[in-house]
Amino acid sequence: MKICVIGSGYVGLVTGACLANLGSHVTCVDKDPEKIESLSAGHIHFFEPGLEEMVKFNLKNGRISFTSDLDRAAKDADVIFIAVGTPPKRDGSADISSVVRAAGDIAKTMKKLKSRKGLYKIIVNKSTVPVGMGDIVTKILKRSGIPGRSFSVVSNPEFLSEGSAVSDFMNPDRIVIGASDTKAFDAITQLYRSLNAHIIFTDIKTAEMIKYVSNSFLATKISFVNEIANICERIGVDITAVAGAIGLDQRIGKKFLNAGVGYGGSCLPKDVSALVNVAKNAGYRAQLLKGVNEINEKQIDRFAARIRAYFPGAAGKKIAVLGIAFKPGTDDIREAPSIKLMKKLKAMGFAVSCFDPAVKKSHVPGITASEDVYCALKGCDAAAFVTEWPQFKQLNFELARNTMKKPVIFDGRNMLNPGVMREQGFKYFGVGR
Ligand code: NAD
Repeated sequence: MKICVIGSGYVGLVTGACLANLGSHVTCVDKDPEKIESLSAGHIHFFEPGLEEMVKFNLKNGRISFTSDLDRAAKDADVIFIAVGTPPKRDGSADISSVVRAAGDIAKTMKKLKSRKGLYKIIVNKSTVPVGMGDIVTKILKRSGIPGRSFSVVSNPEFLSEGSAVSDFMNPDRIVIGASDTKAFDAITQLYRSLNAHIIFTDIKTAEMIKYVSNSFLATKISFVNEIANICERIGVDITAVAGAIGLDQRIGKKFLNAGVGYGGSCLPKDVSALVNVAKNAGYRAQLLKGVNEINEKQIDRFAARIRAYFPGAAGKKIAVLGIAFKPGTDDIREAPSIKLMKKLKAMGFAVSCFDPAVKKSHVPGITASEDVYCALKGCDAAAFVTEWPQFKQLNFELARNTMKKPVIFDGRNMLNPGVMREQGFKYFGVGR
């Protein structure tokens, strides 16, 4: 099948590269000509393990190409994926303007092809969108005079995680296909055939809802365990022991039960807020979901307050923030807790240094990212671990202790063993332990 993917960011590029690897001919489109130029040369503008190799391989065998010309990419495509951003608006609702624009552009292209006999394209929405977006896309096409028989609209939300995106796409727990006709469902199922995945066929609105609910549930697990961690801290119980034990219950499951400074990234905070708004527009006050984001926002405040409480006089004290990316395995800094923490520490009067293996700028005015972790730790009064990069666990802690002014660790991800750290001469503070 010939595929066009609109939006060559984290989701669009992974979708395009993986579908090319599975045998489709893919053209990825982006409105940003610089991205297109660098992608055409096989260079990826973000860090995602395994992706660059996959893009290069498919560029070589001619199964993937890049352009900013949607007409060219879409005119012969059987399937057009929309994978553009849906960032949060001020009120927390999803900004769907890029999806609307992409649908409008598809309509313009299809209008030019109207005389083509048997014209039929499947428009697949991969962006995370409010329930009802499928109907909006259909209306945009119909309003432009494209007859209903010439297209089908499908919702095929993406569940990949940055840092393991290629492997997640290739080994999905399930593939959700929301469609109103079996012709479109069969065609999209065919695309994913070789993945042997569990495929769920549902209507478009249900598919859209499944994506919001998946992310909201994951966020709820994190805020739940953080709330319990805050209680544990006050009553002298270790959250890691509690979470470890409850996680063995298969009804609960181990994942997303790690207490810490909370979730960030471009998806969980925005999707929870967007679902709160979907509920509000439907006349329902989603109290639990509101609480989930509120607990998350306060978690980083608590962490900063803890550091502040340890150093009542911040002036002259320096904190090394370790980890800038919102999670390990990526250089994405959208909604990263590290950036919020650095801003707060700076506002409290601390000097701040920072280091991340993949992010080379602090993204906070007045704070410079160090070239390596030991440079960041040099002369510091404390180290705050914010992103659980595996290499941070492998640090030479003796060297770290000797490099720092004071051997104090605030472990915002509970990634280190408190006993071992204390044996190595550190004062150790985790979250809820
Ligand atoms: P992104 O910002 O990395 O990529 C979006 C790309 O679309 C950008 O390169 C932008 O230039 C391009 N673009 C925007 N409007 C365009 C247009 N009209 N024509 C052509 N290109 C256009 O975003 P992302 O992280 O890939 O997210 C895309 C969608 O997927 C969002 O709805 C997001 O919620 C969802 N999602 C993201 C993830 C993730 O981990 N990042 C996971 C699952 C779902």
